[in-house]
Amino acid sequence: MSSEYLSEDPSMRACLEESSKCIGCGTCLTNCPVYAQDHREEVTARGRNRHIGDLLALPGSEKAAGDIGKCLLCGRCTMVCPRGIRNDLIVATLRQRLVARNGLPFAKNIAFRKIMQDRAMMGRSVRMAARLQKFLPGEACVVVGNAECAAVPTVRRLPLFFSALAKGRRLPAVANVFLSETLPEFIPTAGHFGVCRRVVYFSGCATEFVLPRTGEAIVRVLTEAGMDVLFPHAQGCCGLAAFANGDAETASAMARRNLEVLEKLEADDIVTGCATCGSALRDIWPRLGRDPEERARFTALAAKVRDASEVILSAADPGAFPCRSRLPRGTTITWHEPCHLGRHQKVSREPLTILRRTFGEDFHELKETGCCGFGGSFNLYHYSTSKAISALKAQNLRETAAECVVTSCPGCLIQLVDLMARHHIPGRVLHLAEAITFRG
Ligand code: SF4
Ligand code: SF4
Repeated sequence: MSSEYLSEDPSMRACLEESSKCIGCGTCLTNCPVYAQDHREEVTARGRNRHIGDLLALPGSEKAAGDIGKCLLCGRCTMVCPRGIRNDLIVATLRQRLVARNGLPFAKNIAFRKIMQDRAMMGRSVRMAARLQKFLPGEACVVVGNAECAAVPTVRRLPLFFSALAKGRRLPAVANVFLSETLPEFIPTAGHFGVCRRVVYFSGCATEFVLPRTGEAIVRVLTEAGMDVLFPHAQGCCGLAAFANGDAETASAMARRNLEVLEKLEADDIVTGCATCGSALRDIWPRLGRDPEERARFTALAAKVRDASEVILSAADPGAFPCRSRLPRGTTITWHEPCHLGRHQKVSREPLTILRRTFGEDFHELKETGCCGFGGSFNLYHYSTSKAISALKAQNLRETAAECVVTSCPGCLIQLVDLMARHHIPGRVLHLAEAITFRG
């Protein structure tokens, strides 16, 4: 297939144009966590850009197809690229080409098109896992969430719904009661502050089904900070996992369903505490519209999306900083910056400012902001590489000597639990909102 033919397709043309900006400098190689383990240029941004025509024309070999899958979409290559090339979008387009040729693999087809697209079905699947997980051993080394749930074994080995792929992983236990079963659709402000904003809370699937206490904590902080919170129960999966795996059609259907729900609500901001969802809503949804009008609607919605840390900090009076720790006095913490927050949304300052000002000398900063190695399905299909990448994170976490690791992405949290347990780093992993209160 010639590149002339490819250039007739708008998404292929955009991919070719983006890729053509590459000047071959190689800066991305030295910053790519996968290359640091794999040492093959084929898995890097430059390697793909050099052969983009052949790759878009569909790689014949299994190895070439596998290399397209071997990217975390962490965004580090884009961050350092002198041309600002969106290599994550190039990879997503290449994966779409593979799906167009081969169809979705069976497991991804079930996951994206049958389960994640249907909230009720996802709920039933997780409920079944929640019943079965009690037969699995708990893990005492790492605790998920705030002290209030310390008595519950919140980390389990080999959860059954991942058993074929688990390979000894530790995962947070899934919830028995989901977030939408405990939170109503309207939560009024706790009234500590005079200025009341009206915000929509977009929870994301992992917070709804696995980490509902995180969702409760985010809504609590928002209401403490003077916000009325709308929590539409009809919201669904953001679709980022489907998009990242080349299933743009399902991702677009998921995004459109959410658009219908969110557009109807009158609110100042759409707030999420999930870095991955935030990145989807802000950056990916506007690319999933089927025509200019739909893309404009997504773009208008994206302009209202904020990470929880952004709205918390903007509500805070810098002169009398209102946030206080909810952890026992003297508890030391560190911060793991999710790639989908720092790189994809460029939100770095806000969580750092909140944590520095809230915890003072008890905040022990990590010396890097590197990827934890999760990368969604990357973690399932390339677990040995994922573990190797996470070993560096484990070493740096140990050096901080912090008792708690704070983050704001359920995917990172899952990886942190696993890497800390494997490296025998005792501690607690929790969301930023679980660590603070906005008392005013
Ligand atoms: S997105 Fe991350 S893993 Fe993928 S090529 Fe870029 S730096 Fe490497
Ligand atoms: S850093 Fe950017 S311009 Fe340089 S080789 Fe990588 S993708 Fe190309």
